[in-house]
Amino acid sequence: MEQTTKKIIIALDGFSSCGKSTFAKAIAARLGYIFIDTGAMYRAVTLYALEQGAIGENGVDEAAVVQLLPQINISFRFNAERGASDVYVNGELVEDKIRSIEVSNAVSSVSSIGAVREKLVAMQQQMGRERGVVMDGRDIGTVVFPDAELKIFMTAEATVRAQRRYAELTAKGDNVTLEEILENVISRDKADMERAISPLRQAEDAVVLDNSHMSVEEQMAWFMERYEAIVNA
Ligand code: C5P
Repeated sequence: MEQTTKKIIIALDGFSSCGKSTFAKAIAARLGYIFIDTGAMYRAVTLYALEQGAIGENGVDEAAVVQLLPQINISFRFNAERGASDVYVNGELVEDKIRSIEVSNAVSSVSSIGAVREKLVAMQQQMGRERGVVMDGRDIGTVVFPDAELKIFMTAEATVRAQRRYAELTAKGDNVTLEEILENVISRDKADMERAISPLRQAEDAVVLDNSHMSVEEQMAWFMERYEAIVNA
């Protein structure tokens, strides 16, 4: 009888723009797993809050964001062309809009709101309840799935990360400078690490992957070795 490989949860946490999504997508395709980009969910709430005027010149109006929460319905639909799921807010496709610099600049403040995290963490736990998922974010191995079988903490040099995000945005035609991207990457990491609720930190049982000078193929070989060791144990 053919043996079915056990399905696990792969938690991928780490700093902004270090290629977590690209890596997670490649892993999910290789294993036939579902890839869940939790950053897209925080970005979707931020975009909606911006559009509804809950974020203005004085920053994020936390009470207003909390009030908006019940009317925000986030969903994912698989996009075969991209090989990943696109995010929708109340039925509207927002995959491109959530990557803008405006959203990037406000997302860390929005994601520090307790009620926002409660709502999104509950959704994420529901999405991973049958395992067989690769979930990328900041608190997956520490808060969302502390029992994940494989936890990876990803990092890369800040300048390398800024260059990657810059290339990604300019390729889409966004008018941004490398300096503002670097500033956003550094300030977002600082805010994510210093926030009171679920700060970005490495889980004690996570393995570190610094991919500053690694190709996707090299990262995949690194990953498969660890994955095989777990599922064949
Ligand atoms: O992964 P990405 O850079 O798209 O995430 C955007 C922001 O969402 C992060 O800077 C962080 O503030 C927030 N985030 C979070 N917890 C997660 C995923 C993302 O707080 N699990």
